[in-house]
Amino acid sequence: MRLYEFEGSDLFRREGIPVPEYEIAASPREARRKAEAIGLPVVVKAQVLTGGRGLAGGVQAAGSPDQAEEIARRILGSSIKDMTVSRVMVAKKVEIAREFYLGVTIDGYHGTPLVIFSTAGGVSIEETARTHPELVISRPVPITDGLRRSEAEQMVREAGLGGEESPAIAGVLDALYRVFRKYDALVAEINPLVRTAQGTYLALDAKVEIDDASRYRHPDIEVSPEERIANPLERKGSQIGVSYVDLDGEIGIIASGAGLGMATMDIIGRKFRPANFLETGGAITADLLYQVMALVLQKKGLKAVFINLYGGINPIHEGARGIVRYLKEHPASIPIMANPRGNRQEETWQILEEGGVRVVTGVATEKAVEQLVNLLEEAR
Ligand code: GDP
Ligand code: MN
Repeated sequence: MRLYEFEGSDLFRREGIPVPEYEIAASPREARRKAEAIGLPVVVKAQVLTGGRGLAGGVQAAGSPDQAEEIARRILGSSIKDMTVSRVMVAKKVEIAREFYLGVTIDGYHGTPLVIFSTAGGVSIEETARTHPELVISRPVPITDGLRRSEAEQMVREAGLGGEESPAIAGVLDALYRVFRKYDALVAEINPLVRTAQGTYLALDAKVEIDDASRYRHPDIEVSPEERIANPLERKGSQIGVSYVDLDGEIGIIASGAGLGMATMDIIGRKFRPANFLETGGAITADLLYQVMALVLQKKGLKAVFINLYGGINPIHEGARGIVRYLKEHPASIPIMANPRGNRQEETWQILEEGGVRVVTGVATEKAVEQLVNLLEEAR
């Protein structure tokens, strides 16, 4: 679960990482008042759960209260990467001398936290890692040891910094690592950490993502998990109670089990790319599958939908009614293919066929997918 910038900044402040003075506003008038209280110039920043806000126009400087109000009016209610902005941060504007990147994440290979530092701040670290890998300094940190101050300083020196710079930045790295551990984060990132014209250091951005499984350990962090899911389709999936993972392919998938869903993705993936993973869970109803259809078909660029249902504990004939009701109300312009097996399969086949779904019977998923591939290749 990702935190908003202002929530991350709050954790930073608690752990001793200096951040500029800031306030939150939900209306242009409020943004004006907060800007006046903080003192101008300020930076008005969209609070949405994504990076790249600067490039998307979501971070703008204001030199007067009028301007702060005007910028807030433009940003509030606008959408950045499909996310509607309902709050802005009004932060004291800082004069930047130099920008750095600091991050802690999980190194899946070593199974340890990974601390990352770069003198190329303010730009995407992924981009820097691609174009100038020598500018990215990273260290796996044994979880039982923690990050030693000497090691943090060494990383900063390895990046070519010395003098007063390395202890100051190492201090921030150390505090960032503390935030990461204390809040069971998956990612804690400052991009950019800046040296100001006055020679002080400030975190101008905060990205913190917390492991959902650790929520009970942090009652002080108030969250509504659904609101935190950045992808609108995945958010919808969570709301209706199914596991939905958005992918970038062209075949929609509906499966009544996680293993079945993954196998279906793999088999489809031999010829096409899955547009999503979707697993209904074990409590199929007509209404659930109606909503599942609405969700999967919302995805742009689909060529077909493949429905793989197993009737064990799930009443697939009930599910079929929901699928057919959805298609009756929203006729699909792409093939919908289903491969239902198990309890009450004959009834399920009949309901689906009568509702215009192409039903494949009596074969394993491989063969059913082959039929889908043939169908799509014929249509080409
Ligand atoms: P992001 O684009 O979502 O990562 O949002 P950031 O919070 O990182 O802001 C984008 C960029 O705006 C930063 O990388 C800075 O270069 C710039 N910026 C943000 N706050 C200030 C500020 O107080 N002063 C100046 N000069 N630039 C700022
Ligand atoms: Mn940033």
